Amino acid sequence: MIFDAYTPLILLVFVASLLIQGYLSRTYTKWGRVANPRGMTGADVARMMLDANGLQNVPVQMVPGNLSDHYDPGQKTVNLSESNFQVASVAAMAVAAHEVGHAIQDKSHMPALVLRGKMAMPLNLGMNLAPWLFMAGIFLHLSGLMWVGVFFFGFAMLFHLITLPVEFDASRRPLAFLNERGLSGSPEAQGGARNVLTAAALTYVAGFAMALLQFMQMLGFAGRRDD
Ligand SMILES: [Zn+2]
Repeated sequence: MIFDAYTPLILLVFVASLLIQGYLSRTYTKWGRVANPRGMTGADVARMMLDANGLQNVPVQMVPGNLSDHYDPGQKTVNLSESNFQVASVAAMAVAAHEVGHAIQDKSHMPALVLRGKMAMPLNLGMNLAPWLFMAGIFLHLSGLMWVGVFFFGFAMLFHLITLPVEFDASRRPLAFLNERGLSGSPEAQGGARNVLTAAALTYVAGFAMALLQFMQMLGFAGRRDD
């Protein structure tokens, strides 16, 4: 670990991430116990929303794990964790609606989503290599190698950045849909659904803040080395 002006900020964001994780876990547990007014499971909500948006060809599948819910743009499938698939809770409704939000983005070729999909593969490779390239560059006094490491950190930061509009949009429109159709019920349940998705969105904000700080730190460190 590098100690410099960014270190306290990185620790701060790290603590904030833990707090956000805790908030997400509490909110999700709380609203996972409250039934949604129409008694619709996550699978029911997803199916209905997909059909309402002309996405009858997108299947809704159950996947193992907790909070493993995701939309798969390659297979064109909405995947819900066991509890969200089967349970008719406010949380299950909110998460299912969010994943359908990604399916709608995919259908409309949302530019940020397309770009994020293209970045995913090289990013995985780059993120695994970046710290090694960076350190190897420093120890072997190969500044070119060090800068390649910095470049990959910057690339990761951009990935986290374009994830933000994708995630916010995937929650905003489906929440409006649930409210319009009267599916979310009481103002309290509406607030619950919104809180679950806001908490999830905050984890992405923290992810970006961390990636940004790490990139700035690497950039500063490499700049001092290169002098
Ligand atoms: Zn999402």
